[in-house]
Amino acid sequence: MTNADSPTAGDTFAWCFSHGRLHRFTNRPWCTATWVPLTGTTEDDALADKAARFGDAVFIDHLPLEQQAAVCGVD
Ligand SMILES: [Zn+2]
Repeated sequence: MTNADSPTAGDTFAWCFSHGRLHRFTNRPWCTATWVPLTGTTEDDALADKAARFGDAVFIDHLPLEQQAAVCGVD
C-alpha cells in the first residue's frame, strides 16, 4: 500500500541543471547529475523557489559562474 503519486512529507523536489527540468524524489534521489534541492511540498512551490533563486536558468551554463560553482558543490 503505497501512495507513490500523492505528495507526502517524504517527497522532495529538485531542479536538475543537467536535465533542465524539475525532479521529484519520493525516496532516495535517482538522479546522479547536477541538481539542487528546492523548498516546497508541491511542484508549484518548488518551481517558485527555483525561480526565486535561479530565475529563468534551465541548464547549468545559464547561471552566473559563482552560482555554477555553488550548484556543483565547489567552494
Ligand atoms: Zn537530473
